[in-house]
Amino acid sequence: MQIFTTRKGLRDYLNSLENKHLSLGFVPTMGALHPGHISLLESAKKHCDLSICSIFVNPGQFNDPDDLKRYPRMPEKDGELLTKHGCDVLFMPEVEEIYPEKPNESYDFGHLDKVLEGAHRPGHFNGVAQVLSRFFNILRPDRAFFGEKDYQQMLIVKALVKQLDVKVEIVPCPIVREPDGLAMSSRNALLSQKERELAANIPIWMNWAAKQLTGATIEEVKHSLQEAIQQHPELRLDYFEVCDAETLKPFSGHLNAKPAIALIALFCGKIRLIDNIRLNSYNLKV
Ligand code: AMP
Repeated sequence: MQIFTTRKGLRDYLNSLENKHLSLGFVPTMGALHPGHISLLESAKKHCDLSICSIFVNPGQFNDPDDLKRYPRMPEKDGELLTKHGCDVLFMPEVEEIYPEKPNESYDFGHLDKVLEGAHRPGHFNGVAQVLSRFFNILRPDRAFFGEKDYQQMLIVKALVKQLDVKVEIVPCPIVREPDGLAMSSRNALLSQKERELAANIPIWMNWAAKQLTGATIEEVKHSLQEAIQQHPELRLDYFEVCDAETLKPFSGHLNAKPAIALIALFCGKIRLIDNIRLNSYNLKV
């Protein structure tokens, strides 16, 4: 695996391959890699000639400075894992390399960045858009792979490439889960044993909610969910919403067979976890 820490180093390398006309698959990450990230790499390897992972903890997308400070960093272990899984190129720049000057551009994705994570983490998606626009510009990938675990982010990235008019195909990849169902996340490593046990309830509650929504209203399900969560003082619900899976507008009506999705964010102690589940809108009661 080739490792680069500078834009120039990486660009020179990619330029040297240009006459080979390889398709480039990009997997952006913030490191502390787990099988969820590796599934994106596997997808990139399957669909492209050359796989490039980035590890960059992007300060701009952290609205909480403590979250940024405690975000797990393990570059050596990550490098070994990527080598083991056959990644071709690793790009791990320092902050100054990506942002020689403080970024100041601001993006507007309409409704998409105003709700859910956008509403609860002000500036988060602007930071995501700032870093990805730079990465797309440096790498010029053919395809970029994003996990549906960060479902709203995946939709925003699709909107971003339209706005920037860059020719990169955004490939959504399914959520990879722990054996007990908890969605894999770098933040899971920060949970105490008790918090980790409690976090295992998230997928159980989401599956339960999905089933309930065939008979009960969204408000009723939200209320029961809130009650279940309140049984545990370590947990605090940030949001639970049922949305149109394409627009993230509140889901309404049996009007048509539009796909719907339920999304949750929940504090487990100090650690904020997110998850989502697709719903069969035919059966939803609103
Ligand atoms: P992160 O390092 O958390 O910024 O995530 C980098 C990429 O990996 C994003 O596209 C995430 O959606 C994706 N990802 C993180 N966790 C998972 C998971 N459990 N399953 C699938 N993709 C994931």
